[in-house]
Amino acid sequence: MTAKYIFFTGGVVSSVGKGVTAAAIGRLLKERGFKVAVQKLDPYINVDPGTMSPYQHGEVFVLDDGAETDLDLGHYERFIDVRLSRVCNVTTGQVYAEVISKERHGDYLGGTIQVIPQITNEIKRRIGAVAKATGAEIVLVEVGGTVGDIESLPFLEALRQLRSDLGRENTLYIHVTWLPYIGATGELKTKPTQHSVRELRSIGISPDVIVARSDYPVEDSLCEKIALFCDVEKRAVIPMATTPVLYEVPLLLEKARIAEFITERLKLEARRKPDWAEWTRLVEEVRREKPSVSVALVGKYVELQDAYMSVREALKHAALHLGVELKLSWVHSVELEKDRGWNQLKEVHGIVVPGGFGGRGIEGKIRAARFARTEKIPYLGLCLGMQLMVVEFARFVLENEEANSTEFDRITPHPVIDLMPDQRQINDMGGTMRLGLYPCHLQPGTIAAKAYETDLVEERHRHRFEFNNDYRTILGEKGMRFSGLSPDGRLVEIAELVDHPFMLGTQFHPEFLSRPNRPHPLFTAFLKAVCDQAGIQIYPRDQAS
Ligand code: GLN
Repeated sequence: MTAKYIFFTGGVVSSVGKGVTAAAIGRLLKERGFKVAVQKLDPYINVDPGTMSPYQHGEVFVLDDGAETDLDLGHYERFIDVRLSRVCNVTTGQVYAEVISKERHGDYLGGTIQVIPQITNEIKRRIGAVAKATGAEIVLVEVGGTVGDIESLPFLEALRQLRSDLGRENTLYIHVTWLPYIGATGELKTKPTQHSVRELRSIGISPDVIVARSDYPVEDSLCEKIALFCDVEKRAVIPMATTPVLYEVPLLLEKARIAEFITERLKLEARRKPDWAEWTRLVEEVRREKPSVSVALVGKYVELQDAYMSVREALKHAALHLGVELKLSWVHSVELEKDRGWNQLKEVHGIVVPGGFGGRGIEGKIRAARFARTEKIPYLGLCLGMQLMVVEFARFVLENEEANSTEFDRITPHPVIDLMPDQRQINDMGGTMRLGLYPCHLQPGTIAAKAYETDLVEERHRHRFEFNNDYRTILGEKGMRFSGLSPDGRLVEIAELVDHPFMLGTQFHPEFLSRPNRPHPLFTAFLKAVCDQAGIQIYPRDQAS
């Protein structure tokens, strides 16, 4: 049986939550017993976002297989609770690289290589690869950007062709648009939506469903108008006002009966009744008044919070689980270096230093780690945050402020964090780090082992540098415990301090595996330590109900 395909395009403007809509619809279908996968098609020419600045792109989300992908894949994994594969993120760069390499190899000998059909065929091949790789019965495909962008045309053409290739009952087009609000007259406008649907039609795609996003409630009469002008059924116009509770989106879409429309049009029979009890509880919990805890996220991309999307979500998941309200304070590490922002840091009950690359703001993060260690404030270091926690501790133990990672100081006398041996020969930047899932053995009796309640875990990595084993003995003697190691014992994956309520860093990124209803054990343990420290009573969810 061929898979069924749901294609998502965006209209009017980007950043209106197309990814979340696709993710939430994926959840609706999973709740009905279908196996779903989601794919993002990104029109930019980079091969993957791994080489892009977080300012350009937001967070790079890493999958089990080490693919560096768009942050929308994080939404997909969190909402649907799936583990996706590298076939689920395709860029123009990948498509062209493949076609050009085949051309050099002589595969098209004699032919002229053109956007149609060679490029569009390669796009279609990659769309088809998802069902093969994941066994999904329904594949949701989201095209990045908005209709009208030059870059996305080949993708849209491929989607157009797929309707005739696969048939009407196997394909469905969902257009996610935006209704602007005009303050002067106090009304929402549908004209930009009409225009973008016309644009989509001119490419040969007629949307079956329109999700009308807006910051204000969308009246029924407006949905009727959209239906009339855009030639879709009234019940297929789904109003979606912005909600402050992200995880409410599936419930809102369920109420709008979009899943019934989709299954009917795709000739699918739901296998079971959706059970929203857990999600409903989750959303109620978000809304409930709770005691608040404040945590600082010390980063250098804090102006763009999307750069830390999974970290923020993982903290929220843990807070929900513990029944507390997370007050996240965004502290700029460069500011700390200039002796600013310290008041902000002094007010929080816990500190998170997330991942990052390059020298800017490093000393500020090290100072934040020093503050956490000396003031006994719970600290969670993620990848770079772990490396800098080691640097800070080494500076203290070795009484040498020059101890560093060779990423920031190549000639430091104490390279406590250094390039992994197999990284030394590598010159290419793209896709060459230590990437994806690796096993980690937990040392019994440590904070990490107690948090995980097991002795072997697998976590996702994305880094080039590593703890330098030459310093294991000296730092170990002075109170640093290496609580997580690679199975051969060679790589330090988790470090923690003995004489501290909670100071722990992971070489991997636990944030990628946290789920709204299944928070990551290390985030929960960290936040629990934060609450203990702040004297806040917690009521973990499974015990409360
Ligand atoms: N820059 C560091 C490294 O490459 C840390 C990477 C990260 O935080 N993801 O090892």
